[in-house]
Amino acid sequence: MIRKFLRKVFSRKAPVAIPVSQSIAKLSIIPFKHHGIRRSQISPCALKITTSLQQAGFSAYIVGGAARDLLLGLIPKDFDVATNATPEEVHHIFRRSRIIGRRFRLVHVMCGSETVEVSTFRGHSPVDENEDASISFTDQHGRLLRDNVFGSQEEDAVRRDFTINALFYDPSKEEILDYLSGYEDIKAKKLRIIGEPIQRYREDPIRMLRAVRLASKLNMQIEAETAKPIGDLAPLLQNVPPSRLFDEMLKLLLSGHSLPCVIDLRARGLHHGLLPMLDIILEQSLGERFITIALRNTDERIKQNKPVSPGFLFAILLWHEVLSTWHSLQASGEKPMLALFRAMDEILALQHKKLAIPRRFDAVIQEIWAMQPRFEIRTGRKPFRLITHPRFRAAYDFMLLRCESGELSMELGEWWKTFLAVDNEKREAMLPKQVLPKKGKRKRTRKKPSSDQTHHPENSSGNIATDHE
Ligand code: ATP
Ligand code: MG
Repeated sequence: MIRKFLRKVFSRKAPVAIPVSQSIAKLSIIPFKHHGIRRSQISPCALKITTSLQQAGFSAYIVGGAARDLLLGLIPKDFDVATNATPEEVHHIFRRSRIIGRRFRLVHVMCGSETVEVSTFRGHSPVDENEDASISFTDQHGRLLRDNVFGSQEEDAVRRDFTINALFYDPSKEEILDYLSGYEDIKAKKLRIIGEPIQRYREDPIRMLRAVRLASKLNMQIEAETAKPIGDLAPLLQNVPPSRLFDEMLKLLLSGHSLPCVIDLRARGLHHGLLPMLDIILEQSLGERFITIALRNTDERIKQNKPVSPGFLFAILLWHEVLSTWHSLQASGEKPMLALFRAMDEILALQHKKLAIPRRFDAVIQEIWAMQPRFEIRTGRKPFRLITHPRFRAAYDFMLLRCESGELSMELGEWWKTFLAVDNEKREAMLPKQVLPKKGKRKRTRKKPSSDQTHHPENSSGNIATDHE
């Protein structure tokens, strides 16, 4: 079976639609004097793993993003290892390891606090040979349902996504094995898909998102043939399991290049299938301004190694939808705070229906949104109470973005910046003087809230109502 497939992939006459330029995987070995990567640049854990596997008689290489990033002079996020040892054999060699994944089995090997992913060379599932054989491996759109067949190193290279991601670095010889001219593409800064682009996107539509993310992150051009089918095939993203789509979306948003990525996604028509409503949001001018400022800010934070929570990001992406639902509910007579909570529920329910955002992020998103009206109340003890909220910082950053985008006045943001910067005495002085009740009239007493009541609209709706009117 494997031989048959290899014959198909590497023969020009084969029916598999791989362009002539890539139909023959020709191995080039690039020596140290050309690529310049020392084994000392590999993490000690990954180095220990490749060395131990090689000593046990297996082949083992640093693969994927790490080999690519080193060649580009970037610091790899993590080091992945590929080997011809089976997961059981790998697990047997490393005491601190565990086999993970049911369908696509990998081994996590731990050394100290570092974990390295070790995968066995994968082959491509047999497709095209005859219709019947392909049925069980792909769905009706050509999406690969199985990708867990072990294979040779060449096959492992061919089943990867882009040529620049298919390089194997051997730390012991300090050599790079390149079957698909990935090294040349790295030098030329070209992101080129392996094989026939339409077929590869059909197999896994996520590759279209990866193309956008990697091109932005690595400052590369998506090669013309690789880019061409993306717009037409964008609807295929609808068939991708939501959890994979979410993971890839998150990688993209946390890449430190989220703004150019989102702009590019939109230019290629890929944004429709991602988050429900992302297309609508990006088409509203105020929404677009808010997202642009927020993503630029997020990218900056990531570059400065500051934490960014996914909940914060999703609160940003969905805010303008919440805002417009909130306004229309108020226009139809709903009290402000109740309207906000209903709008929040509606928008999150829509995401859940498509399983676009896992429920574990709901609490953070809701807290950030629910705190927003409280920034506009600057009287009494309220600002003092607000700053003690455990999620205050995220909600505060969010409010500043709203000011910057023109949704709230800059004066409000400046007021809060000062309020946080000064001592309590000065804070007291910053509070607007409260209007005293007229003489002779009885002061209405209100029950003092016992604790933070952000999340109980029935308790706060009255206060907010006067502030928003
Ligand atoms: P990053 O630096 O963002 O992690 P990466 O290329 O390392 O980028 P990973 O998701 O860690 O991305 O994937 C590791 C490798 O697995 C890739 O370099 C590529 O060779 C292969 N790969 C990942 N996703 C796919 C896919 N959808 N189709 C084919 N190969 C893939
Ligand atoms: Mg990686």
